[in-house]
Amino acid sequence: MEITDIQFKKTSFRFTEPVHVAFGTIEGYETMIIRIDTDNGITGYGEAGPLGFVTGDNLDTCMIIAAEYKKALIGENPLAIERIHKRMDEMYNYNTSVKAAFDIACYDIAAKNAGLPLYRYLGGDDPHIESDMTISMNEPEKMAADSLKWVKQGFRILKLKLGDDIVLDSERVTAVRQAVGKDIILRIDANQGWKVKEAVAIEPVLRKNHVEIIEQPVKARDIMGLKEVKEASVLPVIADESIHIPEDASLLAGLRACDGFNIKLMKCGGIFPALKINAIAEASHLSAMIGCMGESIIANAAGMHLAAARRNISRIDLDVTFMTSCDWITGGFTAEGGRILLSEEPGIGIHIDHF
Ligand SMILES: [Mg+2]
Repeated sequence: MEITDIQFKKTSFRFTEPVHVAFGTIEGYETMIIRIDTDNGITGYGEAGPLGFVTGDNLDTCMIIAAEYKKALIGENPLAIERIHKRMDEMYNYNTSVKAAFDIACYDIAAKNAGLPLYRYLGGDDPHIESDMTISMNEPEKMAADSLKWVKQGFRILKLKLGDDIVLDSERVTAVRQAVGKDIILRIDANQGWKVKEAVAIEPVLRKNHVEIIEQPVKARDIMGLKEVKEASVLPVIADESIHIPEDASLLAGLRACDGFNIKLMKCGGIFPALKINAIAEASHLSAMIGCMGESIIANAAGMHLAAARRNISRIDLDVTFMTSCDWITGGFTAEGGRILLSEEPGIGIHIDHF
């Protein structure tokens, strides 16, 4: 099989309701979607959802590099995924979002070629997964109200965004726990917001409120700080911004600096490196979680198929499509609350009305 054409374009999505975060209100987000055609008539779709302050790239760099990758990859075999990555890595270091777009499209093609939904192509056998829903950082009462809203819509797992002030953060977690009752799983994500001492100080409050995990308590590059928090905490500490690529996973696992990884296709460069990170996690007796960026069903569903294909990926934070309205990209999965049933259609299972 040969790649015969590659098309890509910027596209924008609007949140169903504007999202309020510490630095303002977000109405929507932009991504780059990609279509790869092959000589046997199979078409694959992929997507890049860069987030500059995490992934270091942006939509414009994705478009520039995609044009160069297009020239390099036409004529290549999309099933030779290791070679595809080698060629992309030889041309550009980092730039993981654009690599993820090409990677997802190649996996979509490979699974369609095998006549299997992607999760089965990857070796999985169960199409059921369950995602959490992220609750934006706000005043405690607002976070409690937002949490209740999603619980009423059927979500059983919530991820609370914290990290600007441990006194207020304690009030936020306590307010949400009181509002949702004891049966809802609460995860928290400090997004690098705490110092080591603050993370250690708030951990008993989180434990008292039956929080399940602490995600990225300290700065991304403060690996020894992360290890300090992990060693002082009863609760599992999960690395997110501290881990992008498999080499980061190897370093963190070797130092025993955390209890698990939040893997994101946009941080690592797609499914191929994500599988390596999960393998490092599993062999190091660490848990794995799959998260997302601002992205559509294309990248979100790819993450879901990956999660369904590996038992070690035990936590799923693929919630952005639940907050987005989009009528021209459909399929991939159905959901009741956060309980997701993957499509049995070959590939990722998504349909695009017009490209
Ligand atoms: Mg995070």
